[in-house]
Amino acid sequence: MTELLLGQVIHFSGDPLLEGPEAAHHIAQGGVVVADGRIVALGEAAAMRAAHPQAQVHDYGAELISAGFIDAHVHYPQTAIIASWGKRLIDWLNAYTFPEEMRFGDPAYAAQVADTYLDLALDHGTTSMCSYCTIHPESVDAFFTAAEARGMRAFAGKTCMDRNAPEGLQDTPARAYDQSKALLEHWHNRARLSYVITPRFSPTSTPAQLEALGALWAEHPDCLMQTHLSEQVDEIAWVKGLFPEARDYLDTYEAFGLLGPNGLYGHAIHLEPREIDRLTEVGAALVHCPTSNTFIGSGLFDMAHLAPRLRVGLATDTGGGSNFSMLRTMAAAYEIAQLRHNPLHPAQLWWLATGASANALRVGDRIGNIAPGMEADLIVLDLASTPVIAQRSARADSFWEALFPTIMMGDDRAISSVWVNGKKLR
Ligand SMILES: [Zn+2]
Repeated sequence: MTELLLGQVIHFSGDPLLEGPEAAHHIAQGGVVVADGRIVALGEAAAMRAAHPQAQVHDYGAELISAGFIDAHVHYPQTAIIASWGKRLIDWLNAYTFPEEMRFGDPAYAAQVADTYLDLALDHGTTSMCSYCTIHPESVDAFFTAAEARGMRAFAGKTCMDRNAPEGLQDTPARAYDQSKALLEHWHNRARLSYVITPRFSPTSTPAQLEALGALWAEHPDCLMQTHLSEQVDEIAWVKGLFPEARDYLDTYEAFGLLGPNGLYGHAIHLEPREIDRLTEVGAALVHCPTSNTFIGSGLFDMAHLAPRLRVGLATDTGGGSNFSMLRTMAAAYEIAQLRHNPLHPAQLWWLATGASANALRVGDRIGNIAPGMEADLIVLDLASTPVIAQRSARADSFWEALFPTIMMGDDRAISSVWVNGKKLR
């Protein structure tokens, strides 16, 4: 069946972080044609109606049709502990995260949280994400099963740890390798799912475990590898103590085969010049998690310096991040860039939450934009979703002025419809 979505449309012909806002395009009265899970065409509403007279029409009026949001770094098992008060990273892990993650060996509990997380993500307009699971293979099975049932393009992996974590949350180098490999062989490239090799971060993996996961990645270089890098200053000092031979934090991954073009490095706030040069040389991706960075007090990501050099995605880092909404996450990215005296344009913020995150995950040719042939993961936004936003957007004299109040003040109330793989889910 062919379907035609009518409304305002935002789409991109390039990267606004590199080319400026001109790479973003707005169609005031537009249409997007969808068939068999794909985007067939987009353009002026009248032209789309004329070219596809048989299509079933969904008229969204003045609402905005966009590619779905892509959250490039989340921990779905932390759904229930989001917004836990007031700790530094290491205390926060020990006080809240690790006790909760212990529970995911129970497949029923893992399935329940996976369902809750994915439903909340979709309610907030997030149609794809890259998630850490827990040490338990059951947590990976639960997440992928729930994502597959919803038809979502999703990325995830078993989080590996074999030191500096509670006994019940540790594996070994051999078990990390064997379980990751078995999960990879079962789930990778099944439906719209991708397995991601996932050492949590170097403080919780021995060199032997990092080496085992580096070997697994070398056997499956098409897989993504995700981890954390240089989030907090005291964490970096800890890493230096644990790896006295390492030149810097990145070297604790590089030395064990965990630096590569399909690597995703979350946070990356306090990078040294050598680390930036090496990440750039290999073509790795960084993931900016602004609500997490302010919530846990980590620091200010340097978007203006890094985005021209590297692929950078945007993420909530649920539950170190304090919100499921990629709108709130864009607002936090804007605020951090302001504190760095490098303001971001709304087009750049929107791109970070869609196409840039897709590029970070190496699927920018499939999701993250509206273009013929791309997969039909679409959201529809009400740009007047609350009285405060409505009265501001009513005074706007350009599309960007009308959109920006929703970026700064919007939440799940702004998401009026969600399409995944060409199917309307909300
Ligand atoms: Zn994280």
